[in-house]
Amino acid sequence: MIGHVVMIARGWRSWGLCLAFCCLLSVATFPATLAIGAEPKRVLLLHSFGRDFLPWSEYARSIKANLEQRSPWPLDIHEHTLLTARFTAPGPEGPFVEYLRSLYQGRPPDIVMSVGGPAAGFIQRHRRELFPKAPMVLTTVEERLIDRAGLTDNDTVVPVRNDFIVAFRNVLQVLPDTRAIALVIGASALEKFWLEEVKKDARPLEGRVSFIWYGDLPFEDILKQVSRLPEHTVLFWGLMSVDAAGVVHDGNVALHRLHAVANAPIFCFEEAFFGRDIVGGPMHSIPELAQKTVDAALRILGGEKPANVKVEPIEYATPKYDWRELQRWGIEESNLPQGSEILFREPGIWERYRWQMASIAAVILIQASLISGLLHERRRRRMAEVESRQRLSELAHVNRYAAVGELTTSIAHELNQPLGAILTNAETAELMLKGTSPDLQELREILADIRRDDQRASEVIRRLRSVLKRTPFEVRSIDLNETVSEVMGFVADVAAGRDVALSFYAPPANVLCVKGDPIQLQQVILNLILNALDAISEAESGKREVSVMTSRAGHLAEIRISDTGVGIAVDDLKSIFEPFFTTKPLGMGMGLTIVRSIVEAHGGTISAENQPFGGALFTIRLPIVH
Ligand code: ADP
Repeated sequence: MIGHVVMIARGWRSWGLCLAFCCLLSVATFPATLAIGAEPKRVLLLHSFGRDFLPWSEYARSIKANLEQRSPWPLDIHEHTLLTARFTAPGPEGPFVEYLRSLYQGRPPDIVMSVGGPAAGFIQRHRRELFPKAPMVLTTVEERLIDRAGLTDNDTVVPVRNDFIVAFRNVLQVLPDTRAIALVIGASALEKFWLEEVKKDARPLEGRVSFIWYGDLPFEDILKQVSRLPEHTVLFWGLMSVDAAGVVHDGNVALHRLHAVANAPIFCFEEAFFGRDIVGGPMHSIPELAQKTVDAALRILGGEKPANVKVEPIEYATPKYDWRELQRWGIEESNLPQGSEILFREPGIWERYRWQMASIAAVILIQASLISGLLHERRRRRMAEVESRQRLSELAHVNRYAAVGELTTSIAHELNQPLGAILTNAETAELMLKGTSPDLQELREILADIRRDDQRASEVIRRLRSVLKRTPFEVRSIDLNETVSEVMGFVADVAAGRDVALSFYAPPANVLCVKGDPIQLQQVILNLILNALDAISEAESGKREVSVMTSRAGHLAEIRISDTGVGIAVDDLKSIFEPFFTTKPLGMGMGLTIVRSIVEAHGGTISAENQPFGGALFTIRLPIVH
């Protein structure tokens, strides 16, 4: 039982610890947690031109948001607008002062904050009658507009510094060709003041750049002028609260209209206008000003004496530029001051379609590598083809030697005949010349015979040399019938020696023009004829014939070589073109392999079959060229 009680007590203790931890966590996470039960702090925010009047409206919005976020007390923010600043000829301020006084009589605000120069001036003028004891923060006020002498111990200033020279120098840096700066500015009392200030400040730039002052023109007239500004002019958006015609321009509509018609870039040092119409440059930072203003306000609300809260004038922040405007006016990024920020950069095609582009690039890369792989393969194949042709022609050459070897006897016989005849004729002529009156006519005939026999002998040698020539595979247009006739002349004697009738049929006037190497094609026919002669055995007593026929079948030239030999055994038909297949005791079995390779290298085909009445038939088909 006791143990139980202890357990429960322990349980409660751990819950309590948890709660305390949670509270601590929430305090740590939310430093601006409202002080529970604290009285709300009454804040009076006084605007200069209007609650939506740029650029002050943006400062005021930011200050309010910052204050609401950071204040440890509940807030009761009252906002009032000093409309008199809008008028070119301001009327009496009395009624407005009276209105405020009656509003806050007996219940003065805990802090009064003025935004902008006119509001600061107003509040300084009337502080004694309105809020003699309330602490004041004069914010967003250019240092030149502060009445320093009129400040009390209860006042704090958050000043800004409008450094026109810095802004103009920046224009000249980013656009070095600038010859003129046109200042767009309104005609309210404040704007007139500033126009004079700018003129004074810009003096050091005289000679380097000229100025156009639009202070005394109605905005509509300014719009007409800015559409035809001379080259190398830039516009500087000073302020356009109230123009010379008394028209009030509160938001950024006026600037949009200026941007729409201007033929020159627009610069400005107010961040409130940045983001659409102006190029940018060094500008006052709204968050920075809000931060410093609220820092001061919180210190004062926390009990610090306003006189002790000192804030240095706020200068321009790091320059910022609108990328779209840089593009539009051709401003080089290299001309921008170091450390500048470029905003609104439009994503390039790569950023916008990153995945699509990456996949396309990948596909292209894969395709490119495939193509290069295929090209490489093609090149290798080509080289292999060249190599194999080379080998083929070497092999063919060896094969020709072998074939010609078989012809040695007949060649010797062929050569002997004309040489013998020449010798006989020469001896006859010698004898005739020994006589007293040689028959000149007969001598002439003998000499003609010698010449003819000599030509016959040299023809035999020419053919022999041509067939044994070791030449690379060379392709040219040839007449197939001529090529076949050449071989016929070569083997005619061999056939005759073996008692075989060799015939050649070529359809008359049938030119079979093919593309090829004549020596190699001769070799094909020679091999096939020699094989055909081999197939007719000596014992064969029937018809002993080898016939060669050429013809045309469509786009193909056909050479048919048939014999009356033993034919090819049916089982051997499929292997006779294989290397080393032979049925001859001394055969090498390479002849038909070489024949098929040569025919295929010429884009043709070769087939073998047996004829119905005995003997083999080889058919070669080669493409005809026109
Ligand atoms: P080889 O003449 O050295 O034997 P080939 O490749 O020229 O080599 O011929 C291979 C074989 O094909 C021959 O051994 C033969 O059996 C057969 N052959 C070739 N031509 C004929 C033909 N006209 N008639 C019958 N058989 C043939």
